[in-house]
Amino acid sequence: MRRWLFADQLGPHFLDDPNQPVLLIESTRVLGRRRFHRQKAHLVLSALRHRATELGEQAQYVRVTRYADALDARGGEPLEVPHPTSWEALDLVERRPEVTVVPTTGFACPPSKFVAWADSRGSRRLLMDDFYRGQRRRFDVLMDGSEPRGNKWNLDHDNREPPPKRAVLGAADPWWPVEDEIDAEVRRDLDAMQASGEASFVGRDGPRLFAATRAEALAALEHFVRTRLPGFGPHEDAMLAADWTMSHSLLSAPLNLGLLSPLEVVRAAEAAYLAGDAPLNSVEGFVRQVLGWREYIWQLYWYEGREFPRRNALEAHVPLPDWFRNLDAGAVQARCLSGVLGGVRDRGWVHHIPRLMVLGNYGLQRGWDPAELARWFHESFVDGYAWVMVSNVVGMSQHADGGVLATKPYAAGGAYIDRMSDYCGGCAYNPKVRVGETACPYTAGYWSFLDRQADRLAGNPRMRRALEGRHRLKDLGELLDQEQARGSAAP
Ligand code: SF4
Repeated sequence: MRRWLFADQLGPHFLDDPNQPVLLIESTRVLGRRRFHRQKAHLVLSALRHRATELGEQAQYVRVTRYADALDARGGEPLEVPHPTSWEALDLVERRPEVTVVPTTGFACPPSKFVAWADSRGSRRLLMDDFYRGQRRRFDVLMDGSEPRGNKWNLDHDNREPPPKRAVLGAADPWWPVEDEIDAEVRRDLDAMQASGEASFVGRDGPRLFAATRAEALAALEHFVRTRLPGFGPHEDAMLAADWTMSHSLLSAPLNLGLLSPLEVVRAAEAAYLAGDAPLNSVEGFVRQVLGWREYIWQLYWYEGREFPRRNALEAHVPLPDWFRNLDAGAVQARCLSGVLGGVRDRGWVHHIPRLMVLGNYGLQRGWDPAELARWFHESFVDGYAWVMVSNVVGMSQHADGGVLATKPYAAGGAYIDRMSDYCGGCAYNPKVRVGETACPYTAGYWSFLDRQADRLAGNPRMRRALEGRHRLKDLGELLDQEQARGSAAP
């Protein structure tokens, strides 16, 4: 049977048989109805068209307005499709009687295993760490018999270093793609869509920075494992204003396009450790991201149900301000937020800590609507898809799931950003100041968030000390007035 592949199902592992006939659909409405980052639209279209070119006559490639137009034109020909990656896309394929959904090979853990594990927890939380241990055992990754390599499951202790006291980490350069004629055609088409009003984009155009083909993805993986993985661990949570890649793999984009399978990525990292080419803390930190977090986030998206994207346990309803929505980094004085927002504007990518502790933390403090923020991340990031952003934003960063993913909200003041980055040194604000001209908006925002959410968080034992701490602030009233006056203005 012909297999319909979405644009995030492009690797060879999405076919049962390498010669299976394929259908690829390019839908202009998908690009037109949301405001995606220009570089994300480019990456996805480039990957889809490259795949069509590689498959040649094996694939039928159609450009239509709506997916349904392509299916209607086929007169009910039976098709199969790997399980799509959003509730919306699942609804679309399930409405079509001629389409059969088959299990996806984009993730290692079968859903039935996750459901059995989650259902067996009873009143215990669905801890990522417990799931991750199960994954290590299930796939025999970094294991020595039944024990973890190094006798520890988690080497985070070695992987939470602040940044070094220099402007750049000094890691080897990442692998970069070279654009080709297909990229040039994509750029012309996106320019035309923008000019005609068929689509509108956010962010700047720029050279493609992420792998768009299987060959490129394999080259990027090999380069990362050989040159950058050894130094990945210690500073994986640190931020440097002048070094946006640090030692990160930049593999989330090709992984989420389906160009790499998570297990091959994990095996490559493990092989480097076994060969003595990379230390355990770096390899374990990386394996945790791919085999732990990524899989857990995917499974939770489905397990928590179709209402998950709309959960709003902290009743946060403030709309995203235009300066944020439009990636207007120049409107922001706060050096960390301006730098990170500028990174999103220029590349559609910043690593996991700026996402969580600069962008997400600011939204949490200000009470921004979590569903709207998740949509913004989905649209603005080259590796953003519904499954990954709903779980990470609604769940993890905005605590809107009521504590499924995290035992307490990821709210932090400027002291955290000061410790884990070099942003504060050159900032107009001071992370130690709460009130006044130089008051750090993160520090003030932290206390204002705690005060606003005090009743909802009162039953959380991990928040007790922080909540009590605000009563010791002599300037709390002044601080709350100051933050109320700031409102949604760019800090
Ligand atoms: Fe960000 Fe505050 Fe540090 Fe400025 S002082 S960089 S706003 S954390």
